[in-house]
Amino acid sequence: MENNISIEKSKTTKIQDVDFNNLSFGSVYTDHMLVCDYKNGAWETPKIIPYGNLSLDPASKIFHYGQSIFEGMKAYKDEAGKIFLFRPTDNHARLNKSAERLAMPSIPESHFMEGLETLLKLEKDWIPTTAGSSLYIRPFMFATGVGFHASPADAYKLIIACAPSGAYFSGKVKVLIEQTYSRAANGGVGYAKAGGNYAGQFYPTKLAAEKGYQQIIWTDDNTHEYIEEAGAMNVFVRINDTLMTAPTNDRILDGITRKSILKIAEDEGIQTEVRKIKVSELVDAANNGSLKEIFGAGTAAVISPLAGFGFDGKDYDLPELEAPFSARLKKRITDIQYNRAEDKFGWRH
Ligand code: PMP
Repeated sequence: MENNISIEKSKTTKIQDVDFNNLSFGSVYTDHMLVCDYKNGAWETPKIIPYGNLSLDPASKIFHYGQSIFEGMKAYKDEAGKIFLFRPTDNHARLNKSAERLAMPSIPESHFMEGLETLLKLEKDWIPTTAGSSLYIRPFMFATGVGFHASPADAYKLIIACAPSGAYFSGKVKVLIEQTYSRAANGGVGYAKAGGNYAGQFYPTKLAAEKGYQQIIWTDDNTHEYIEEAGAMNVFVRINDTLMTAPTNDRILDGITRKSILKIAEDEGIQTEVRKIKVSELVDAANNGSLKEIFGAGTAAVISPLAGFGFDGKDYDLPELEAPFSARLKKRITDIQYNRAEDKFGWRH
């Protein structure tokens, strides 16, 4: 190992307090975390320390100017107890893409990957094996450098924390196609996993929840005529037997699940189209019966099928299918993630 990561072991463990058969999503944390500081123009050696509170100067720029980015990934344990990550270097690359957009320093791949592997070896007993559960991994970086001057900080902290987690959503969700608010704008930071992108989603999502919708389908900021993402997931639509998703751009996160699903769908012989999808097309297809499925795709929920959507004051239901693409694709991707199927595309790590 190049980085000589130091490990300070926790004197106690919380693992006996966790009910691994009834895990919620991301609400209990393992005993350790990886921490790496950036100071004087360089990253220090990462270290693993007991999970716990941080002490930060109130003038840290994270609090004022929101330099904060994150990733979301999972560790899976197979039946033999081997541990796998899914396309982790893609998360590393995306973290650096987010960092660049927020004028934050990039993280060397060796710090990220060796840090992750060392942490996971230490926390291996925390990786749940009950169906659908995994160890959710949250790498995040924020500005610790101080100053009330609105400029990039000179110091940052990378942390990797882990949370044994069950399914993200249970059951199908009803979503609202958003016509007023936007999660991202042309030339903005939508393609980055910046904390502020999510803060900006909460209020419109709360308004949608008051109307009975669990999530929002975001439309383009300019016309609100094209669908872009579903909550914090990429969105797929099936009209007749064609599976479609919007092309990535500066407003859409380049999801690892999205690109994996596209590849698997092609492999399954499903006709796919990556193109702009008009809301009016969805409404017409719902009315003439050709709209078969809409689902969200992301690391946390994997694939989240929708029950229906609301638009312009009207609700549209999606049909109950016997063999939906969503179930078939979810099985294919999770079989690869949990080492239950051949890793045809070389995604397991
Ligand atoms: N869009 C947004 C806005 C997200 O936050 C996420 C979750 N990272 C996704 C899409 C899905 O990306 P991934 O498949 O890489 O988890």
